[in-house]
Amino acid sequence: MIPVRSRHGDAPAKYPGPARNRRPERPRLPYSAPMIDLHSHSTCSDGALPPAQLLERAAAAGLRALALTDHDTTAGLEEAAAAARTHRIRLVPGIEFSAAWRSQSIHVLGLWIDPDAAVLRTAVAAQLDRRRRRIRAICERLTHKGLPGDRLLAMVEARATLPTRAHLADALVEAGCVREPRDAFRVHLGRGRAAHVAADWPTLTEIVGWIVAAGGTASLAHPTRYPLSATARNRLLTDFRDAGGRALEIGCGGNAAHHLDACAALARRYGLDATVGSDFHGPRMPWNPLGRLAKLPDGVIPAWRGRGIGDDEDG
Ligand code: AMP
Ligand code: MN
Ligand code: MN
Ligand code: MN
Repeated sequence: MIPVRSRHGDAPAKYPGPARNRRPERPRLPYSAPMIDLHSHSTCSDGALPPAQLLERAAAAGLRALALTDHDTTAGLEEAAAAARTHRIRLVPGIEFSAAWRSQSIHVLGLWIDPDAAVLRTAVAAQLDRRRRRIRAICERLTHKGLPGDRLLAMVEARATLPTRAHLADALVEAGCVREPRDAFRVHLGRGRAAHVAADWPTLTEIVGWIVAAGGTASLAHPTRYPLSATARNRLLTDFRDAGGRALEIGCGGNAAHHLDACAALARRYGLDATVGSDFHGPRMPWNPLGRLAKLPDGVIPAWRGRGIGDDEDG
């Protein structure tokens, strides 16, 4: 496994930027016919499209099933379910939880969850609280740096039901403090920068426990995106599996072939099923469209098998 480290500490493979800014491309992947996308965001977290528009777009892209996996919230699932019925596409109810493992933030997808489960309702309320406190603390730091922290906080709070650093990055662009959201992370918000505030996320074990208690499948999101050594990654996978984790996201957005093969090897070694997802955040990132997903390598078991949405199944 090649750990993907970022030059900017917090901006790994996920945010390569538009193609014109990138180094010469790695070999292209054989993309499967778009079918199932198990990772996407709406305006209920830091995505650009409301849930109904997201489902409409997914149907237009020829997807058979889409999971809405907003950061730490299930607020969009009702609207998404209604739109899914209209557009004759299957909605997989999901969430992308932020968790702490040692000193690393880890993202865990909860798929096929029951959003009405009491344990989830309590969990999302607590996550929202954490996020609000964190954004306030970051804005205080921005004020100490001579930036308009109060105004930035007001901008984020006016727009975001679930505030993320992505919203704050947009506010920094709009206030003329930086040119692009990426610069906001590079200069102010990323790890090691003056306005960085570590989040106090619940532990990986707690989060996986909640997903399981809500009837869901826990999938460790984009495993190559964390700056971990191979040894640490193996410990993470062991802890995740021991906590009740069932799947690994082995294809995420434009993952290169070597990531895919490395993730598939991890899934096989740890007995985890596979999920695939674009991590779509909106049309503003055209290099990461809905449903552009690599084919599953041989020897891994799709986590959606038996749920009536696969290649070999009806429905
Ligand atoms: P948070 O969950 O509040 O820490 O915010 C993290 C969100 O910010 C991620 O889910 C991404 O959508 C976005 N993000 C993180 N790093 C970057 C980056 N370097 N450039 C652009 N967006 C980023
Ligand atoms: Mn995001
Ligand atoms: Mn993520
Ligand atoms: Mn995501």
